[in-house]
Amino acid sequence: MDYLQDLNEEQRRAVEHIDGAALVIASAGSGKTRVLTYRIAHLIANGVTPHNILALTFTNKAAREMKERIAKIVGYDYAAGLWMGTFHSVFAKILRYEAEAIGFNSSFTIYDATDAKNAVKLIIKSLQLDDSVYKPVAIYNRISAAKNNLITASAYQNSPHIRVRDEAAKRPRTGEIYEIYANKCRKANAMDFDDLLLYTNILFKNNPEILAKYQQRFTHILVDEYQDTNMAQYMIIKMLGQVHRNVFMVGDDAQSIYSFRGAKIENILNFRNDYKDAKLFKLERNYRSSQNIVNAANSVIARNKEQLKKEAYSMNDEGSKVKIIKALTDNEEGFLVVKELFNQYHQGDNTYEDFAILYRTNVQSRILEEALRKHNIPYKIYGGLSFYQRKEIKDMLAYLRLIANPNDEEALRRVINYPKRGIGLTTIDKVVNIATSEGKSMWEVLSNISAYRDYFNSGTIKKLYDFVQLIEKYRKDLEETSAFELAKDVALQTGILQEMRVDKTPEGISRYDNLNELLNGIQEFSETAQEEDNEDNLASYLENVALLTDMDKDEGDDKNHVSLMTVHASKGLEFKNVFIVGLEEKLFPSDIGGDITEKSLEEERRLFYVALTRAKERACLSFAVTRYRWGNVHQENPSRFLFELDEKYLEQDLKELTHRPAFLSRSNTFGKPKYQSSKPSYASGVNTNRPAPRFKKLSSTTAPSNFKPDEASAFEPGMRVIHSRFGAGEIMKIEGEEQNRKATVKFISFGEKTLLLKFAKLQIV
Ligand code: ATP
Ligand code: MG
Repeated sequence: MDYLQDLNEEQRRAVEHIDGAALVIASAGSGKTRVLTYRIAHLIANGVTPHNILALTFTNKAAREMKERIAKIVGYDYAAGLWMGTFHSVFAKILRYEAEAIGFNSSFTIYDATDAKNAVKLIIKSLQLDDSVYKPVAIYNRISAAKNNLITASAYQNSPHIRVRDEAAKRPRTGEIYEIYANKCRKANAMDFDDLLLYTNILFKNNPEILAKYQQRFTHILVDEYQDTNMAQYMIIKMLGQVHRNVFMVGDDAQSIYSFRGAKIENILNFRNDYKDAKLFKLERNYRSSQNIVNAANSVIARNKEQLKKEAYSMNDEGSKVKIIKALTDNEEGFLVVKELFNQYHQGDNTYEDFAILYRTNVQSRILEEALRKHNIPYKIYGGLSFYQRKEIKDMLAYLRLIANPNDEEALRRVINYPKRGIGLTTIDKVVNIATSEGKSMWEVLSNISAYRDYFNSGTIKKLYDFVQLIEKYRKDLEETSAFELAKDVALQTGILQEMRVDKTPEGISRYDNLNELLNGIQEFSETAQEEDNEDNLASYLENVALLTDMDKDEGDDKNHVSLMTVHASKGLEFKNVFIVGLEEKLFPSDIGGDITEKSLEEERRLFYVALTRAKERACLSFAVTRYRWGNVHQENPSRFLFELDEKYLEQDLKELTHRPAFLSRSNTFGKPKYQSSKPSYASGVNTNRPAPRFKKLSSTTAPSNFKPDEASAFEPGMRVIHSRFGAGEIMKIEGEEQNRKATVKFISFGEKTLLLKFAKLQIV
């Protein structure tokens, strides 16, 4: 029992608790996951068969790591027999065994969210409903929420309360769609993700003998991250645990961050009702983080009204104070964060694995990725794809590649029917076959499609012809138009941007934001090219981006890399040094769901708490004063969470740091970017549903209309200036006349750059 030495007294008591329900509610880093892991090992060491233990984790990765750890204590053969994994993976397995009892075949397919949404879309179409009212994604979300609350299609249709809501939303036939969808899935022998939980519930409810079998089997049930279970998951545990009542839950209400998926903090309270005799363990000592980090995190979370009381302290070193980085622009933020990371890496005894950069939304990764690449620092994105690997980005880039080179067949195939224009796979196959047999490229066949009337019907010919015309139209002004103008036209005119804009799911919002961020990147490329008097066209942009994306390929399995991920994905993990970026109002706390309400604010605060408590030794928080969002420079306000941190634990004086210098609001420049003030919405209560992008017009041949050559003479060497992307710098040299007047500026973060004044947005400080 050597392993018991690795635990403190309270942890050991929890681990040694073998029979009866138990609940461990404790704060971050207090060893909950460790207790869960050791308790499993301890059960096995005390004769419980691994096969009788059911352990549910939040990610499959966590399950693998725990198994590994248990194996080291009790041996690999034992660990292999455990029932361990996420709710979805474990119950998919059980459903396969028992499929017949609920009318499925054991080889059922699992639909991912895209499959499921497509199926719903088809049903709406077949019912001839207006899909601007019956928005497929909205309907899908309704169905998903219903399933997670264990409302079946028939229950849905019989509920007067739901009927009233759907009628108010002008979608009275939602229940009917749900029913058709459920029947279709059943016929197709398919289940979506939510079905896995719903059908497990149905299986157990309708088949007492099957339930009894699993109740007998699972003598011990353990759940990690209990605070993030939803109704469907909660009920499964409740049913399975009824016989042996050995249910062991660990969680932290202060880290409940999935309410948008239906997770309820109340489940923790329900548990205490279900198991009145449950033993309660309190872990108070944080083993993960320095005192400064624990205290700083406590000072913020203390503001949440809705929480269970508990203590958290650290006996580790006092540690470094929390550092705050202020950047003038979002680009500069990426740069300064990476520079700080680089310095820390070289100062101490670190590997890149010791570092994580956490952000609130996926879209923020682009700037960080680019800064890391410029410094040759290896990184890996967790729980998501590298920016340029994301589907919406690849699709958009495929359009641009095709326009630059119509013989790029991979690009052609990606976009020929995206957005959907009725060109099916059979048609594409035919084009490929003709091209192969005639030794031509697909594009050659397509551009001469009328010669192939025998192969296609006239409707298809027209669609293919229109597609070629569309691409040709963009090709015509390839040389004269800036990369950004062209990309913007494609995004807007093909309808890609609009299609994403109507999708209000978290994934949909993220796709829309990503596409806008790509446009931001192209705009940045075009503006910089103009300012630095370089070539600005699609070909040069694509060359630039190809070099960036190429680096994605040789990441390999090397473990020595910085981890990048969203705060959501970081739950349960820990790193020696953590950077949390984008601490600005409306970004973190985010206003994705619309207004920031008291309730959503508390959830955002819990997210911030999760982020901060990932750090063992150092935490560094950053914010930018301006940020490109939806095509415009926005003035950002520092996040309220920065001010909620007790200043005792901060390295800098926050008031000094966040003081807004007067020059930012003075209009002493020309060609100045239009600043959008983003007032904190908690004050003004504005609802910022994703705005339509307002990319401004760029032109590579003429100066901005508001350019007055005499204004350029206002700039002199020695002046301190601010640039909307490169941040602060000093003018070293001015040369050239009128339209060609250039300034060489030494930027603090980006070094020396020579910029054409008619394009550069310089502000005198
Ligand atoms: P979170 O809420 O973030 O999931 P947690 O409560 O699950 O945190 P763990 O991840 O289990 O915490 O533990 C945090 C860190 O502290 C881990 O590195 C763990 O190995 C270490 N730790 C926990 N208990 C002890 C202990 N008694 N002695 C030494 N190290 C410990
Ligand atoms: Mg944990």
